[in-house]
Amino acid sequence: MNIDRWKPKRPSAQSVNLRSLILALTVCSAFIPFANTFYASYVVQRQQLIDTTLQANYAYATKLANSTEDFLQSALMQLDYAAHVIADHMDDVKRLEEETARLQIQSLSFNSSAILDATGVALATSPMTLQLKGRKLDTEGVRESLATKGPVISRPYLSTAGNFLIVLSQPVFARDGKYLGLVAGTIYLKQESILQKLLGTHFYQDGSYLYVVDRDKHIIYHPDSRRVGDMPARNAAVDEIAAGHAGKAAVTDSLGVEMLAGYAVVPSTGWGIVAQRPQEATLAPLHALMRTVLYKTLPVVVLTLLAIWWSARYIAKPLQLLANGARTMDKPSTDHTIRSVKSWYFESHELKKAMLIGIGLLQKNISKLREDAHTDPLTGLGNRRHLNAIIADLQAEGTPFAVIAIDIDHFKHVNDSHGHDAGDAVLRQLATQIREISRADDIACRVGGEEFLLLLPKAPLHRAAQVAERLRREVEAAELPVVGRVTVSQGVAFWPGGDAGVKTVLKQADAMLYQAKRNGRNRVAVYEAQREAPSVGES
Ligand code: GH3
Ligand code: MG
Ligand code: MG
Repeated sequence: MNIDRWKPKRPSAQSVNLRSLILALTVCSAFIPFANTFYASYVVQRQQLIDTTLQANYAYATKLANSTEDFLQSALMQLDYAAHVIADHMDDVKRLEEETARLQIQSLSFNSSAILDATGVALATSPMTLQLKGRKLDTEGVRESLATKGPVISRPYLSTAGNFLIVLSQPVFARDGKYLGLVAGTIYLKQESILQKLLGTHFYQDGSYLYVVDRDKHIIYHPDSRRVGDMPARNAAVDEIAAGHAGKAAVTDSLGVEMLAGYAVVPSTGWGIVAQRPQEATLAPLHALMRTVLYKTLPVVVLTLLAIWWSARYIAKPLQLLANGARTMDKPSTDHTIRSVKSWYFESHELKKAMLIGIGLLQKNISKLREDAHTDPLTGLGNRRHLNAIIADLQAEGTPFAVIAIDIDHFKHVNDSHGHDAGDAVLRQLATQIREISRADDIACRVGGEEFLLLLPKAPLHRAAQVAERLRREVEAAELPVVGRVTVSQGVAFWPGGDAGVKTVLKQADAMLYQAKRNGRNRVAVYEAQREAPSVGES
């Protein structure tokens, strides 16, 4: 396997990490229910407030419609009573004037009152200032009353004096049943009247108000008296009233304000009373409440988010560290990195365990491959690659060393005479002998077919020369099976450290080896310039 080629891909820019996923998931699962609860409670409470307001306005409109009906009936009864009182005195003007005055003064029901004869001529009026006495009154209310000869509540109309009013009247009959005329009371709709008082008790804060329309959809009461006589903006409430129905509805008023209206009809007149409150005023407390809820929950939400963020980090961290480790599983330091990961939950613990086993196997394989790459398979000594690595280390450290180059004499002859396998056996035997004479720190390598090199770190030249000589003697003395005896020639040189070139010392050792060969083989040659002690065994 080519280790350099095996590299896990880096995560692409698009790939999302676990922490973001946990964060997104938890934030969504916390936020969506919160938002939903918030929204749902808003919608429910809003509807509840609207319903309550509509119901309250409906109840209020109904109550006022009832009160108005009661007032109109009682006003008619007052007129009826007066009609009976004056039936026998229609020609007694003074008596009639007293009665009109009483009608107007005794109660606040009417703005003015009058008694008319059967042709519509005014016999008495109150107040007198009206100056209608003796004049034939030809108004809508009078005409209706003369025509029906019964109790009448007129439609609102504009009087000759320019007052927007209604007329209530009762017929006057003699004991024999003869129609004698009528008693009438007027109520001015734009000026202060009992009706105004009755309707005006409505509470007008927060934009709520009340208005009354007649069955022709004219406004007959409005807090803004300038609007009396106008038609209101067409809306559902007014349409329903015209059809004689009571009820409640969300409507838009003439100013474009959304209103919650309750409405009811006064039975005897068909008037519709509309009580309404702006929707905004109704919902304002709810909006304030929702804002308060939001402000109160916000710190908790922020704290929760922080806690989620921290938890996501805490959960994702072991996996993130393991993932980082997975990218550099071939590095020796990764084992330590993975070991230091705090795998506090089951899955991360199992992953960590599996990764440590994986890393162990991988690194064992790597070191085995590395060892193989540095080992000569025949002798088990280091090869030239190993030699180069060791020399590079020694050079980097500046450690001086001696070097012995070793070559078997006439080895070709061994092969030729006894075969290649016998030659291999000789090589292995020599490797064993080199190992035996070297110390733990010395490094023996097979650098060519039958060429060896022994490095002796920190050894002075003369000691290396002694080692070489001992080896020469032991090789010479050993009796090998099949082959018999072999000899070796050796060259010795020394690298003192510092600036001196390492390559030079190897060449020097080589040169000495060939010198030994030239001088007859089975000998040791030491690089003269460096010799500190007398040559050993050199002949
Ligand atoms: P000299 O004394 O000059 O060194 O003579 P030599 O015969 O040893 O010289 P040379 O370097 O020409 O011969 C080396 C021989 O070593 C040639 C080759 O057949 C043999 N050889 C190289 N590698 C191996 C090996 O792995 N096994 C065996 N059996 N022989 C090898
Ligand atoms: Mg050779
Ligand atoms: Mg040789």
